[in-house]
Amino acid sequence: MDKKGILIVVSGFSGSGKGTLMKVLMDSYDNYALSVSATTRTPREGEVEGKHYFFKTVEEFEKMIAQEELIEYARYVNNYYGTPRAYVEEQLESGKDVILEIEIQGALKVKTKFPETLLLFVTPPDAKTLERRLVGRGTETIDVIKSRMLRAAEEAEGMDAYDYLVVNDDIERCRDEVHQIIQSEHRRCFRNEEFMQQIKSELKANLKGE
Ligand code: 5GP
Repeated sequence: MDKKGILIVVSGFSGSGKGTLMKVLMDSYDNYALSVSATTRTPREGEVEGKHYFFKTVEEFEKMIAQEELIEYARYVNNYYGTPRAYVEEQLESGKDVILEIEIQGALKVKTKFPETLLLFVTPPDAKTLERRLVGRGTETIDVIKSRMLRAAEEAEGMDAYDYLVVNDDIERCRDEVHQIIQSEHRRCFRNEEFMQQIKSELKANLKGE
């Protein structure tokens, strides 16, 4: 059966808990590789260079764009964010399922470039929960929270383009659901052309008594 890695995009409103969800997914299973993005945003407290993001100046980021080092990039709340190409390609080739945790404009660009990408959208159960999580995080100013709620309203308009919706009410349940979705995705017929060809020719050979 399918041995190639799948490219998976996970999006969700800022505060949907998708970061924590990805962390528990990575801690629980071996076959996933999480891409580390480049960004021009300033690091939040506790964020580590090369682990959470590669933090870049605008100049450095624009150089990466010019040198085609990014699979996609987008502007989000006045900063650039982008996915470095090399790591994604390496990991997919080695059979890992590669997860990009990126916002919606980037997600749609990836889907256009690579139509086999699986798109998952993580959402909190309701808008109030989202606002409460953003305020509770305590790392953002009121203005940033406002712009993230505004952005969430805009992003909600694009949810329909995704393949699956995941409601993040309970982190462990949600992790298991995401894992199951990805595992089922490996079983899709279009991802198993080689296997199908093989069994078809075996069956034909069997009929001929070979
Ligand atoms: P944050 O500043 O909260 O870490 O991220 C803001 C948004 O940018 C989130 O929705 C996050 O998923 C998205 N993001 C992070 N990395 C990338 C990337 O490489 N490309 C795109 N298009 N969005 C990204």
